[in-house]
Amino acid sequence: MTPVDLWRQIQRENFTKWGDLCAFLKLDPIQQEWIKKKSSFPLNLPRRLAEKIKKGTLEDPIFKQFVPTIQEDEKKEGFSCNPVGDEEVQRGKYLQKYEGRVLLLVTSGCAMHCRYCFRQHFPYQTLSGFEEELGLIREDTSLKEVILSGGDPLSLRNEVLATLMRQIEEIPHIKRVRFHTRFPIGIPERIDEGFLAILASTSLQVWFVIHANLAQELDEEVLFSLKQVQKLAIPVISHTVLLRGVNDSVSLLQELFEKMVDHGIQPYYLFQLDRVEGAAHFETSEEEGHLLMEALRKRLSGYAIPRYAKEVAGLPSKLIL
Ligand SMILES: *Cc1c(COP(=O)(O)O)cnc(C)c1O
Ligand code: SF4
Repeated sequence: MTPVDLWRQIQRENFTKWGDLCAFLKLDPIQQEWIKKKSSFPLNLPRRLAEKIKKGTLEDPIFKQFVPTIQEDEKKEGFSCNPVGDEEVQRGKYLQKYEGRVLLLVTSGCAMHCRYCFRQHFPYQTLSGFEEELGLIREDTSLKEVILSGGDPLSLRNEVLATLMRQIEEIPHIKRVRFHTRFPIGIPERIDEGFLAILASTSLQVWFVIHANLAQELDEEVLFSLKQVQKLAIPVISHTVLLRGVNDSVSLLQELFEKMVDHGIQPYYLFQLDRVEGAAHFETSEEEGHLLMEALRKRLSGYAIPRYAKEVAGLPSKLIL
């Protein structure tokens, strides 16, 4: 029997039962009435993030991002289960919308469940292996980049990732692999020696895209784990989602993007919320987004400013707002 990886042991300790979490957060019975107890996209929260939540209150930006509440049951016009038109263009785990880049949905697993996730209702393919998808990539010589997404690609064990990377390396027209991951924010131990060895030994140029919404998500251990990736000359860049009641303030976004650039992480995209069913309470208006961007431009170095963008089904690229 092979020993279980440390990060997987830590992941097994995630909060998945609302009762345990309410006790940990010292929520009183009235506050507990706000918790949505059953969801098809269930509670899944690493301890390290739960420890950052203020006790005895619902007014906490980490709480809002990860804890299901009855606000998710509000139906709102324009919010759907397929908000960015992924299902129309998906072939197995292969999803191509833009020229030169293909996105592989390598897993449905994540370190945590973000309540605003645009793929929270996604009908993931559960068959294992990527033979069919790799075949499609081999055939299409216009592709230059493979994006590993999901779910979170770092949910896969190192052995699986290593095999996948080797298979991609064998395709001559593919030059780059991009990871889209939020895993290190919840479980930085995931950036272990085995994973770093995969990154260090690949002949492909790797780009590492993290997803972080608040400066407090980037604590010392998280930043240390990302530094190990950066030391391999791999650019670490970021996605942030603009969320009402979480990070829709100039000072919070300034703090986040400054912390990123202080640690060599380039803010890449600030996304307008995808209109996924259950997440309407997170939406800010685009007007507010523009005002925030304008204020940020006055306060931050040019390279600390992400592109404010949204995904619109049917367009040939993300739409820059
Ligand atoms: C966002 C996205 C990409 C990557 O877009 P970039 O603008 O290159 O970051 C690629 N494929 C799909 C399906 C996407 O949703
Ligand atoms: S980590 Fe990403 S894919 Fe997973 S739930 Fe959060 S937003 Fe969705």
